[in-house]
Order: sequence, then C-alpha cells, then structure tokens
Amino acid sequence: MGTYARFPITLVKGQGCWVVDDTGKRYLDSVAGIATCTLGHSHPALRRALKRQLRTLQHVSNLYRIPEQEELAHWLATNSCASSVFFCNSGAEANEAAIKLARKHGHTRRNIERPIILTAASSFHGRTLAAVTATGQPKYHQGFEPLVEGFDYFPYNDLQAFEALLERHEANGPAVAAVLIEPLQGEGGVNPGDRTFFKRVRELCSERNILLILDEVQVGMGRSGCLWGYQQLGIEPDAFTLAKGLGGGHAIGALLVQQHADVFQPGDHASTFGGNPFACRAGLTVAKELERRHLLENVQARGEQLQAGLKQLITTYPELLKEVRGWGLLQGVVLQDNAKVNAAQLAAKALDHNLLVVAAGPSVLRMVPPLVINSREIQILLKRLETTLAHC
Ligand code: PLP
Repeated sequence: MGTYARFPITLVKGQGCWVVDDTGKRYLDSVAGIATCTLGHSHPALRRALKRQLRTLQHVSNLYRIPEQEELAHWLATNSCASSVFFCNSGAEANEAAIKLARKHGHTRRNIERPIILTAASSFHGRTLAAVTATGQPKYHQGFEPLVEGFDYFPYNDLQAFEALLERHEANGPAVAAVLIEPLQGEGGVNPGDRTFFKRVRELCSERNILLILDEVQVGMGRSGCLWGYQQLGIEPDAFTLAKGLGGGHAIGALLVQQHADVFQPGDHASTFGGNPFACRAGLTVAKELERRHLLENVQARGEQLQAGLKQLITTYPELLKEVRGWGLLQGVVLQDNAKVNAAQLAAKALDHNLLVVAAGPSVLRMVPPLVINSREIQILLKRLETTLAHC
C-alpha cells in the first residue's frame, strides 16, 4: 500500500555501518533502520547466534516457558530499575501494553472510573490507534477520528503547563492514571528532556500514585550513551517501553515495570509472537555485545565527536543550520527557519553523496548510526554531510 513516501533507492546488502543498493552504490548508513540496527548490518555475533537459534527452536507459544525470554528478561531487569518484562513485537505494541497497564493501575490502585493519560505535545508513540492518540501531534490524528478517549497533552519540558493540566484533571479527585513521556523526543525533532522538569514530574507522580511511564523505544538500549534515557535525567520511571535497538534489526518490543507497578495478571495481555526464542536470542545477543564491546563508551566518544563536528558545520553554513542537539548517537541538526531546503529534501540530497540520514520533522536532520560506528566513519559521515550542504 502507498503508506510510505520512499526514497528512490533499493538497498540490497549491508556490512557494519555500510549499505549497498541494487546498482552497487555504497552508502554510509546514519539511519540504521531508524535507530534500530544497534550492531550495524550483518554483525557476525548476531548472524552466528540467530543461525544457531534457527537450528534449535524458532517459535513456541507463550503457553509454555521460554528460556531465551527468561534470560533476556533477567538481563533487562538486572540492568534497569524494572523487575518484570512483557515482550511484544514493536514500539507501538509496547506502548499499547503500557497504556493498558496504566488504565488498570488507574482502576485498581487509584479507583478512577475513566482514567486519563497525560502525554507531551510533539511526542511520538507509534501508529496503532491508542499509541497514535498518545502521540501529541495533530498531523498523525487527522483522518483517524474518533480517537481513543482518555488522553490529554502538555507542552514538553514545560513544568508550569504540566502542573496546571494535572491540577485541572485532578481538581475533583483522582483522574490521571499515568504520564507517558519520551526521555528525549526523537521523531518530534530530537528534543532532549529537561532534568528539572522530569525530576518534578517524578515527584508529582509519586505523591499521587500516578505511574510515570517513559517511552524509551528510540533512546533506550544504549543510544544516548547511557543504557537508558532515564539515566540522563537522574530519575527512575515506574515503567518504560523498548523496541527498535533491542533486537538489533529483529522485531521485538518490551514493557518493563517496577514491582509496585506490576498490575497485570494472567489473561490481562498477550501476544502470539511476543518473546519468541528467535527474537529474544536477537535481544540477548545485542545485550551481550553491548557489554563485551563496551559500546556505551563508544557511543559517548563517537557522540561527542559527531556533535563537535556538527557544531563546526554550523559555523561553516550559518545560513542553513542553527543548532545541534541530542544525546550520544542520537543527534539532530536544526535548520534555519528560512533555509532554502527542508530536512527531507536535505536527506534526499545526501543520497547523491552516498550518505543515509533521516528527517525528524520538517526542520531537523537526524543522525542515528549503528552504535558500533568508529572514529573514521564519523569523519566520513561529517565530510559527506558537508559536501551535501555545499551543494544546497
Ligand atoms: N515510540 C517512539 C519514541 C518511537 O520513536 C517510535 C518509532 O519511531 C515508536 C514508539 C513506534 O515504534 P514502532 O514503529 O516499532 O511501532
């Protein structure tokens, strides 16, 4: 179906941070399946582990215990504030699970008849009906009304507006079940969360027994330079969602909860493919490689290198670029208001110079390369971006 406005290239193979199209043209991949191919393309450890898993067992139902799923849940719980995990197949599906968890929490723990979830303007939480309603961007809602009831929106990082909205809903007693926010807004324009804002939201949620749920789908699993985005903000959520980078290019999503927020019981939620041995083997391999290759350190060093290089480009092209922002290997370059190209046009032009980059909204160019990218490849990325800008 025509749901995608695709670029006119066909990618047929990849190795590390490089992909090749069907004409043999080679690109540096700073998109990585949109922050998904954590270990790059065709990573030997992932290839070996998945080959072995296919020979052993590919899929069984969640009617039975699945050791790979238990092992991955154990790794995630050991390395985060969560104590239990529900596995699914995508970010939207993980957020759907979080929304159901929030509603059940609202009903059972706050005695709310029609629980409300507060989310941020310019957020992105996925395309299923509840996740797209949670997404605070009208352009994603248009044409799909009636939306799911029980959501309201506040401007991201705006404490005063958040407190006012919370007060308005809770004026006559408990009404809000959860706050669902990205630690850094990816699709919405690479907007990092503000520590003061998140700290106060955490306090307000704790005071009222409202769940603070973070959508870590884009920023989690090491992309920020910390394993989880919430570590950048100095807080712990009651629950958070993952997908994208968790499987290193294989479909997997997850909802992780702290023990006190674990309100689900058998029968409350399910997914046929969720947590199957193959997907969990992919997740486990990504997790082990993150540790073995000290990839968080690489993300920090390469993120700094990338950000410094992008800042340099701003001084060379002030008529096109005005700001660089982001964490680790999730960096955005903000275009000038009156720039003669928008971000999507710039991403299209970069193809001519053998570079894959992706827009985040109309005025931000986003760079989310594999977490294994090395120093020389960052230099190439910057050089190719510069050549692209020079041709604008
Ligand atoms: N949440 C965030 C923060 C995302 O960036 C995305 C996708 O870009 C999603 C949710 C949706 O994930 P998926 O496309 O796997 O459903």
